[in-house]
Formats: sequence, C-alpha cells, structure tokens
Amino acid sequence: MFWGGSFKVLKIKGITISIDLSWLIIFGLFVFLLAQTYFPNPQVAPGHTIGTYWLFATITTLLFFASVVVHELSHALVARRRGIPISQITLFIFGGVAQMEDEPRTPGDEFTMAIAGPLASIGVAILFYGITQLALPIGSRILIAMFVYLAFINAVLAVFNLLPGFPMDGGRVFRSLLWKVMGDMRRATLVASLTGQVFGWGLIVLGIGSLFLPALRGYGSIWFALIGWFLISAARSSYQQVVLRETLQRVPIREVMSPDVQAVPPDITLERLVAEYFLRESPSTLPVERDGALAGVISVEDVRAIPRERWPAMLVVEVMKPLEEEQVLSINNDAWDATNRMAQSRSDRVLVAENRHVEGIVTRGSIMRWLQTHTRLAPGEA
Ligand SMILES: [Zn+2]
Repeated sequence: MFWGGSFKVLKIKGITISIDLSWLIIFGLFVFLLAQTYFPNPQVAPGHTIGTYWLFATITTLLFFASVVVHELSHALVARRRGIPISQITLFIFGGVAQMEDEPRTPGDEFTMAIAGPLASIGVAILFYGITQLALPIGSRILIAMFVYLAFINAVLAVFNLLPGFPMDGGRVFRSLLWKVMGDMRRATLVASLTGQVFGWGLIVLGIGSLFLPALRGYGSIWFALIGWFLISAARSSYQQVVLRETLQRVPIREVMSPDVQAVPPDITLERLVAEYFLRESPSTLPVERDGALAGVISVEDVRAIPRERWPAMLVVEVMKPLEEEQVLSINNDAWDATNRMAQSRSDRVLVAENRHVEGIVTRGSIMRWLQTHTRLAPGEA
C-alpha cells in the first residue's frame, strides 16, 4: 500500500486480507532475528539444532502474523456492526490497515472501532501468556519461549497502536474524545493531527538524539525516528483527507459535472464511432444509449482491443461493456460521492444519470479543476 504492490492471501467474512510487499521484509527479518538471536540465547532456549530454531522462528512469526490479522479484523467487524463497510485489510510494514469505505459518523462509533484493535491485541497477549503457564509443567523451554515472545509482541502491538498519533488507533481514540467535547469533527481532526505531528517530531528528536547525545542514550533508537516520520506524514495526509471530504460533500454533483456528454447509439460501427465521437471530442469513455435509456459504456481501450480491419463491420453494441451500478451516480449525489466511486472502481470518471438517461459525466480532472478555482477564490473554504 505504501510502496505499491500487495497481494491477496485470504478472505474472512467477506473481508479480503492482503499483504503489502513491505510486510515480506518484516517477515524475513523477524524469522531471522528470532532464529539467530532470540531462541539460541542462553537465557531462552539453548542447545537445539539450527533447524529447530528456524522452525520455531517461522511458527512464531506466522502466529504473530495471525495476531495482527485478529487485531485488524476486530476493527473491521466492529466497524461493520456500526454500519461502516470494510472490504479490505492490508498488512504492511508497521502492522495493518483496515480500509474503511467511509469515516465514522459519531464520536462513539469512532471510539469503539478504534479501541477494538488494541483491546483484541491485549486479549491475545493474555491468551498467549495463559498458554505459557499451561506449558510450564510440560517443561519444553523452546515452546514456552515461543509463547512468552508472542505474549510480549502482542502487548507491544497494543501499546504501539495506542500511540496518540492520528490516524493510529490511539490518535483515533483521542480524536473521538475531542470530537465529543468540541462537537466538530474537522476541528477535532486538526487538533488530533497536530498532536500526532508534535508527537512524531518528539520521536524523531529522541531517535536521532539517542545516537549522538549521551544523556538520551538508551532512551530511544533509530526506529523511533522512522516511526516518528511515519506518524507525521500519516497525520498530515489524514487531516487533508478530512478537509477534502468536508469541502466536496458540500458541492452538488452538477457543479463538477460536464453536461455535454454525447451518448452513442448502439448500432453504429466502430469506424463511425471513432471518426464521429472519439476523434472529434477525444473523450476516453462514452455512454451508450438505446431509445434514450442508458445501455452500457464504451471506451477507447475497448475499441483498441479490436483489430482495425474489423472496425467497419463491428457494432458498438458488440463491444460495449455492460453498465455496472458503480459507474453511475444520481444527480442528488455530491462531489465526494463521485470521488469515492472513482476510487472504488479504480476509474477516473463516473456517469451521472437520472431514470437511465445520461445527465453528464464527472472526471477526476473536473473535480481537480473545481478545487483549484474555488480554493483560489475562497482560500478559507478549503
Ligand atoms: Zn489498530
């Protein structure tokens, strides 16, 4: 998610869990450190073969991975119960992110959703600690060491996520309390975001300071600086996101839509389509209307996929894509709905239709242009 690639691993209760490629680095690092430094330590479980250490290191890392999934799933399931759909969880370098399709609507919703993850991690930590107690009479030191480690790492996960930097869980808990007190989500987000940035700078100072200043040595590490930098950029972009949403939610879709979108009849040839519509107007996608009713969409890419010599004989209706719900909004929607819809369908345009008749088209570019003009005219507004 942050460095680009991610791949899907499993689906639980309709929620897709994907792994960001950065996670693989952490996975490898964990297995390596556990196998090389933790398990063989004389205080932990000395006297086993290298193969045993690597095996236990791998199992421990997989169970840690499962613990992160439990953490994120508890956010997702609580969110869903509160009416905020979550379709995807991505595990990345610092843990996981449950992608909400909408922001929480009340401070109470946000508080419960945010606290659910750390509480789950504390629960898992207690569970693993309980298992160590059960495993004590069996006396296998390496097995006990594994569960001790898992209890510890889940406690760390809970504490790390409770750091007060928005949009971390702790920052969200903090924002929900501010929101409750101030009664204004945007101002609460601003304060939570600024607090998160101050906190992030504190971590950076501590992390870098611990390298150079004897007084700070032992109180931080270079990891602090990295986490601090991550918190600052996350806090900044989530505030911008909130401002953008608040601004666009007040903009009726009519204001960002271009009304003169020409609908294509389904029974013309591709050759005519290219000459009379695509070349003249240069849009990349066009709606197809039959007797005034929306029937599908056709894009330049759809046409390009057909060999040129077949264009004179092939009809639009044979190539067009069926219309999916996600490609069409109603005239009552707002500019934020359009932005969301484009993000969900990974497209850069969305049609606006009323009673299956095309009213216009909204593109990413038209929203950007709206923002540029209006933020210049009214700087305080966005
Ligand atoms: Zn969390």
